[in-house]
This record gives sequence, C-alpha cells and structure tokens, in this order.
Amino acid sequence: MRNTCGGRIFRFGRKQPRDPKIMREQKVRARPQTCLKNPCRVLNSIPMTKQNLIGYTSAQMEQIMIDLGEKPYRGRQLFKWLYKIRQYDFELMTDLSRPTRDRLAEKFVFETPAVKDVAESSDGTRKFLFELDDGLCVETVVIPDAESGRCTVCVSSQVGCALGCRFCATGILGYERDLSVGEILGQLIHLRDQHGDDVFTNVVFMGMGEPLLNLDNVLTAISILSDGAGMSHAAKKVTISTAGIIPAIEQLADSGCKARLAVSLNAATQEKRIKIMPLSRKYPLNELMTALKYYTSRTKTRVTFEYALFAGFNDSLEDVRAFSRLVQGIPCKINLLAYNPVNNLPFDRPSPEKLDWFARQLYPHVPAVTVRKSRGVDIGAACGQLAGGAKVTRRE
Ligand code: SF4
Repeated sequence: MRNTCGGRIFRFGRKQPRDPKIMREQKVRARPQTCLKNPCRVLNSIPMTKQNLIGYTSAQMEQIMIDLGEKPYRGRQLFKWLYKIRQYDFELMTDLSRPTRDRLAEKFVFETPAVKDVAESSDGTRKFLFELDDGLCVETVVIPDAESGRCTVCVSSQVGCALGCRFCATGILGYERDLSVGEILGQLIHLRDQHGDDVFTNVVFMGMGEPLLNLDNVLTAISILSDGAGMSHAAKKVTISTAGIIPAIEQLADSGCKARLAVSLNAATQEKRIKIMPLSRKYPLNELMTALKYYTSRTKTRVTFEYALFAGFNDSLEDVRAFSRLVQGIPCKINLLAYNPVNNLPFDRPSPEKLDWFARQLYPHVPAVTVRKSRGVDIGAACGQLAGGAKVTRRE
C-alpha cells in the first residue's frame, strides 16, 4: 500500500511476521525507511542494537541504572529528563556522570513513532497517521474546542480491532496487534514535542482498538503519563472507552487507576446490540450493567455512556424508554452523537432534528445528557471512521 506525504512517497501498512515477542519488544530496529523518490536518503536510521526507552516506567529505569552499576535514584533522574524535561540527548543530562551518559548513549535511544501524514479538518481537528516500527499504522486525533478551551487527544491502543462492531471502520480492518506502552505514549509525546505542552488537555482512549483488551499496556501508559516526576497529566483527565469487556471492567475497577470510564453502548436492548456489536453475545447487556454497578460503587465515579444514533435503527421512543430503564441505578452521564457514515456500511446518519428530539425525550429520565458535535468528519477523523490510513472511506 502506498500513500503520499509532503511530496514524498513512503511504503506503509505492510504486514510483517506477527511474533508477539518481536512485536512488543521495544528494541529499535533499523528501519530502512527510504524515500522512494530519493533512495539514497535513509530516514530515521538508528543502529540495531539500541533499545528505545520510551514506555519505560520509573522502576524500569531504576533497574537500568542498577544494571549499569549506578544507584537506583539515577533511574528517577533519567525518568525526569526524558518525560518531564524532554531532553533526549544523554550528553546533555548534566546531573549524570560522564561515564553513565556515555553508556546510556551506547545502549539506548528515546524515540516516538514516525508521523506519515497529517490531515486538517475545516473545524480545526487534526488527524495524525503514525507509522510503527513494523510498518503498521495507527491514527491519533487532536480535537480543539474553542468554547471550553479544552483540547482532547484521541489515542489508539491497538492496530485494528478484533471486536468488529458493524458500524466502525476500524472494525472492518480486523485485529493486527496490541500497541506497546511506548507506542501508546509515543503518540502523546510526539504531539507535545512538536506542538507544545498545551496541545492537549484531555486524553481519550477512543482511537483505534479496544483499550480494555490491551489493559496492562494502557494502564502502564497512564501511570507514566500521570506520574508527577514525568508528564504530570492528571489521570482523571484521561478517559478509557470500552465496548464492554466485562472482566476487564472489573479489573479496572480494582486497579486503583483514576482514569474515567466510558462505555460505547449504542443500543439499549440485548436484541439490538447484538446486531451491531457482536461482543454482546459474549458479554450480554444485563451482565454489563451489573459490572458497571460494581465499577461505579468501587471507584465512586460516574460512567459515561456513548450512544451513537443510527437513523431508523436506535432512535425511536421505544429506544428512549429502553435506554432510561437500562441505566437506572447507575451513576452516569450520557453522550449522544449522530453516527458518522462509512462507505459500504449499512447505517445512516439521523437528522439534527431527530438527534435533538431523542435528547429531549431522554433528558427527564436520566441524570445528564449531552449532545456531542461530530468533529473531523471531512478528514475521516470522527468516531467510527478511523482506519489507520487504509482505504475505508466515509460516505458523503
Ligand atoms: S467501535 Fe471500538 S470496539 Fe468496536 S470495532 Fe470500532 S474500535 Fe473496535
């Protein structure tokens, strides 16, 4: 597959052998990313033997320093240099001894995934296509909101997705692999490095993939992101969105993680939900609600239900009633949004009037309802449209 970027043509999206050990290993491979128009030019070439420290926790960096014969606190200094000060040149880490800096430089690098393409919407939303070490791609979306002053970044947690929701472009791709901790964090660190500290105020795991099927890496990434000695981004300004993986919701509830939980609901009866979200067969709606009651009582937080309206499918008065009954007894808020059509998928967007009507009907029966504007629709960056650069196109 090929794509154009800034006048240069790169190969991307190619499939590689899927040995999970190789995939998750954070060794930087020499990526002979040659510009096809100028094959002599090698992009991002790094010696094969160096390990990429991105995604390493403070404890792991302490261990690195112990292995180098240093005191553990040197690892915390290294952590601060990389994540807080954002100094990636070991030579300039002036509170480390010269021999330590030299040994670090011999063995390690700190590098984020490469950006292959950036698309900008007329509404200010920007979509970044990242290429990973193995040539696979994921997308990350930055959504500024002038009214609230917030800027939300929507990150990916997997390449593709195994859940195959019938309305979702990512679901069409199928599952390739989980992202490593470094690949998850790399999306955020790249954005801060290139676009400044205020490039995002909120982080949502609503990009490609089901984050609760990569929970360990997502939780580790959030722990590094929210570490006061590192990126210092409040965990409660992070939202993990799930289609409803019940065991992982319970695990998340018990984890102590302060991130918020959102559930992509989209239908209020088991019968309808199975039609659009096949995972409901394995994790039925009534059991999902029981898990969410456990989650909200354990974490003392509300859960957010995301409900995309599909014209003529889940937008009737009957759906309003089923929705109201379903969420009774669960501390929650509800985000409604109109479905963003994707080519070859059999769903249509409801009219703005219908969306407004649905919200008004629901409002008296539930604690809080917000109608969300679709953002980045013209660049295929809205909910359900992310496809990692593959040719899954939105419908006009
Ligand atoms: S909606 Fe989410 S869970 Fe469903 S297929 Fe798309 S990425 Fe996966």
